[in-house]
Amino acid sequence: MNARLSETAGQRSERYTRALTALTRAIWHDDCTLEAALGKICESAAKALDVSRVNVWRLDADDRKLACLHSYEADSEQHVPAESLETLELDGTYSASLEQVRVVDSTDVKTDPVTSDRGLASYFRRHAIRSVVDAPVRIEGRLFGVICHEQTRFAREWAAEELTFAASMGDFIAMAMEIQRRREAEHQLEHLRLHDSGTDLPNRQYFLEMVQMRLRAPRAAEHVATVVHVRIEMPYATTQSSDGPTAEDAMAAVADILRQRVGAECSIARVRSNGFALLPQRHSTEHEITEFARRCVEVVRSMSPWREVEVGAAVGVVFVSESDASDARGLMRRAEQAADHAALRGRDQLEVFDLEHHRGLVERLHLEQAMRDALANDEFEVHYQLEVCSLDGRWGAAEALLRWRRDGRVCAASEFITVAEGSSLILALGRWVLARACRDAVLWPPDVNGDPLTLRVNLSARQLEDPSLVAKVAESLERAGLPPSRLCLEITETTLMREGIDVIKVLHELKALGVMLAIDDFGTGYSSLSYLKSFPVDVLKIDRSFVAGLPGDRMDAAIVAAVATLAHAIGIEVVGEGVENLAQQDALAKLGVYRVQGWLYAKALPQDEFLALVAKPPVAVPVEG
Ligand code: C2E
Ligand code: CA
Ligand code: CA
Repeated sequence: MNARLSETAGQRSERYTRALTALTRAIWHDDCTLEAALGKICESAAKALDVSRVNVWRLDADDRKLACLHSYEADSEQHVPAESLETLELDGTYSASLEQVRVVDSTDVKTDPVTSDRGLASYFRRHAIRSVVDAPVRIEGRLFGVICHEQTRFAREWAAEELTFAASMGDFIAMAMEIQRRREAEHQLEHLRLHDSGTDLPNRQYFLEMVQMRLRAPRAAEHVATVVHVRIEMPYATTQSSDGPTAEDAMAAVADILRQRVGAECSIARVRSNGFALLPQRHSTEHEITEFARRCVEVVRSMSPWREVEVGAAVGVVFVSESDASDARGLMRRAEQAADHAALRGRDQLEVFDLEHHRGLVERLHLEQAMRDALANDEFEVHYQLEVCSLDGRWGAAEALLRWRRDGRVCAASEFITVAEGSSLILALGRWVLARACRDAVLWPPDVNGDPLTLRVNLSARQLEDPSLVAKVAESLERAGLPPSRLCLEITETTLMREGIDVIKVLHELKALGVMLAIDDFGTGYSSLSYLKSFPVDVLKIDRSFVAGLPGDRMDAAIVAAVATLAHAIGIEVVGEGVENLAQQDALAKLGVYRVQGWLYAKALPQDEFLALVAKPPVAVPVEG
């Protein structure tokens, strides 16, 4: 005879209490999934109540359908696999009674009105079910489903303790669901804490933890610990425009492509608004890592232009020596510094961190700050260097050159301008120079023939990228009252060749203002003369390194001759820069270059000295020979 039948009510209650305690412990266990919890509840309910089957069903929102979530067969001690779980169509009477009671119990399902729902009859027949005790599962007060304890083959009277126990199984299912929901919420919170929302990549905090773990792992002597930082460069305009893709869109696109192309070899994290950190999957040699970093540059380069936006990468790599191998934070920072440093050199650059560079960077940062202060304190000046015609000594133009009066000394632009060009500071400085020079040039007297002097002003690459450049130039001219035809903007050849700026468009817009354009330092870029056709330029300035070699250096002479011939052929003026002696002036003249600038004629002078110089009539410098 079954032990259940010989038990007293007290013994039975005790047994139930033990079963409930064990179950509570099991489903609160950290490793217990929802699936496992449902299985445990069904199994222990089947054992405790000594029934043939236990099922957990979810009730559809309109209460017309039951979908089985879990099913346990006591005879075979088997959990039914998910794919064979049933769905039942209901007419609504059964779910209506579930709403009202703590348990639905029936000794004979065939005759009992509570189980008379038509959808249930064939189900009962199929499984030879005679008696049931079903407990509703309520989650936050709403009927979610039901747990059914089913007796097959013979009808059975349910004792009061059995009904109470069955009812508590409904609460257990609800509890298991609640635990699951909380775990999911916790996982989500944890995910949010450790991931970047824009790209769904691990964030800085997470990456730091990964690096820390990696640093603790043992590695072979030829292997290095390393972090690669990919800094994304986008033109200023992208981040500012209101329509079109945003900078954040571009970062998400870069994240995707990095994931696709190098994701298998490394962990990728978003650690800065414009930067990704990469940690190679396994320890590698210095050579392998450098190759890897180079590929990262290529990957980003290959996606440009992306939706009409130029995207570039500056990649920094840091290798760790044994002595500083424990500092994950420092490692990341140094990779970032290397990438920042690479970015100063232009787009698609790679740089490996080393201490020397680090010191250089710190110095640059100090200098940059000092320049910001200097701009605020009015320590900058613009000096003007004459450009003359060697045939008759008449001056036709003057170049504005920036000077910094620092602690009583006048610093030349070459001492600080590249640092300014590495940051947005050049925009403020450039704007200041332009405004100052236009105001000064208005006061310059015309030459003996009554022709006005041309003002030449240098523009750097970043200024050309600035979408408000054309408006700023127009504004400076207008405020000073300088006719646009008196201004000539100098742009270096390297700037013109820089990728990522639609130079030709900007040049045409500038030309449309009525100003002239000059190519500066001509010959120093990877020049192909053919591109001259596409640029609307008026003047070529031959770099002083070619002039320096004259008259002795035949190569320099050949280059100057070729440039002069070409320029004359297409109607562009040529200026020789850095003329320091008569021999150079003479050589230039023989090669067809008569417009000259250099210390032979004048150094760059402050406005008052420059005015004094041009007030006197010009004296021709004799051309030798
Ligand atoms: P650059 O445009 O080639 O300017 C000519 C440079 O050569 C000037 O140096 C000038 O002082 C120097 N120079 C002139 N004549 C001679 C000579 O006979 N012999 C030698 N050895 N040098 C001579 P500086 O003023 O130091 O300027 C260096 C560069 O800085 C300039 O090269 C220009 O690219 C840039 N720069 C200067 N002022 C500005 C500015 O206001 N804005 C921008 N964006 N760049 C500027
Ligand atoms: Ca220049
Ligand atoms: Ca120059």
